[in-house]
Amino acid sequence: MAQPRIIIVGGGFGGLAAARALRNSPAEIILIDRTNHHLFQPLLYQVATSVLAPSQIGFPIRGVLEKQRNATVIQGEVAGVNRDLKCVVVSNADRPNVPIAYDFLVLATGATHSYFGRNELEEFAPGLKSLADAVATRNKVLQAFELAEAEEDPSRHRDLLTFVLVGAGPTGVELAGALAVLVQTTLKSDFRRIDPASARIVLVDMAPRVLGPFSEHLSQAAKQRLENLGVEVRLGHGVDQIDAEGVVVAGEHIASKTVIWTAGVAPSPAGKWLNVETDRAGRVRIQKDLTVPGYPEIFVVGDTAAFEQDGKPLPGVAQVAMQQGRYAGKLIHSRITGGKPPAPFRYFDKGSLAVVGKGFAVLQSGKVQISGFGAWLIWVFVHLQFLATSGLRLSVFLQWIWTYVTGQRGSRLIVNHHASASVRTEVSKAVRGAA
Ligand SMILES: Cc1cc2nc3c(=O)[nH]c(=O)nc-3n(C[C@H](O)[C@H](O)[C@H](O)COP(=O)(O)OP(=O)(O)OC[C@H]3O[C@@H](n4cnc5c(N)ncnc54)[C@H](O)[C@@H]3O)c2cc1C
Repeated sequence: MAQPRIIIVGGGFGGLAAARALRNSPAEIILIDRTNHHLFQPLLYQVATSVLAPSQIGFPIRGVLEKQRNATVIQGEVAGVNRDLKCVVVSNADRPNVPIAYDFLVLATGATHSYFGRNELEEFAPGLKSLADAVATRNKVLQAFELAEAEEDPSRHRDLLTFVLVGAGPTGVELAGALAVLVQTTLKSDFRRIDPASARIVLVDMAPRVLGPFSEHLSQAAKQRLENLGVEVRLGHGVDQIDAEGVVVAGEHIASKTVIWTAGVAPSPAGKWLNVETDRAGRVRIQKDLTVPGYPEIFVVGDTAAFEQDGKPLPGVAQVAMQQGRYAGKLIHSRITGGKPPAPFRYFDKGSLAVVGKGFAVLQSGKVQISGFGAWLIWVFVHLQFLATSGLRLSVFLQWIWTYVTGQRGSRLIVNHHASASVRTEVSKAVRGAA
């Protein structure tokens, strides 16, 4: 008899956890992802600020599942699900709209950044969600210093060296702290015409405090720490306008050539593919066993799912996605093998962490709330533990020690992969014109 086929869409935290939980299942598992790599998103800001190289936080999905003989990895973009015919529609550059049938489906397609309906802002304030985004941000930040050094008119240095971050959640806070350390240590003695430490870093949020999900006390500690690092924290006002010249906050124009969007997230369109009930943000409402009402063979996990526990929606964090992915895998295994199904899903909150600059983090776990170096050590340990492979753990650990001790960063290259040819052509045209 043919083995049941389980399709998992998404090789992020939720999808990989589901695949791994099915490693001993008598089933054919097909994991489909639009990229070829699993990405450790919590460290994206470290790629954007040159601490780590892209290959230290991303790893090929087929490499992660190398030893799992029942799992096949396909790189492709899922554009829809036919829940009645039980198939997903997958496209890649060579084969558009190929239907692939499933017996069980796990959708773990995550989220992307949201501009709250103002998508035109993306052009001036790119977000941080993929490796390409992180490299583009790194390019932009490093390029700003290059442009300022080349600029002979000192009155222009201020605009070039003003960095505005929109959104003071964990990503905005971590990025602001890392940028502040970058300008004060790593770049300190590299320039002659400009003083990198004079760079202005502005963190803006309409919320009254930074790190909304954390307690008031920790949020205050994080804000204080940012201010000690020289970051200007502007709370209580969103940005009214963003364009190529900067932002407008509470009627004040802040001139800046580098604006980075670290605000809202929007789930993947899985709810539209399935045509089922979603919450206001568009996340698929799932049941206690993580399936979609009326479709016991379809599971939705992680950032793209809406799950309420004790009357509150679970947050969009890696732990939720991993625990849900693992649960979906176990439940499918029990259904295939006729084993005892697990009890309804319950999230176990191990706590939240956010790092603010060098050697300082905030940690909230139940009643425990700490900030400072101790929390930072825990942050280091936790983040190393959840990287996809032992090779990545070692490489990141060594890089962190090196950066901590020397202040040097691993990856300070400006690499415009796609633009390089056209930029070169434009430059040569300009040079020929001038001649
Ligand atoms: C900058 C940043 C910092 C963060 N920091 C933290 C943190 O410190 N702690 C924490 O707990 N969480 C953090 N998060 C949130 C955490 O990363 C997410 O909650 C987690 O990744 C969700 O896991 P997931 O499996 O639902 O989705 P993801 O991990 O996003 O994986 C989704 C996968 O689906 C693939 N995919 C999407 N659409 C399609 C499609 N149509 N076809 C094929 N493949 C598709 C994607 O390529 C991706 O590989 C952070 C997120 C970001 C962006």
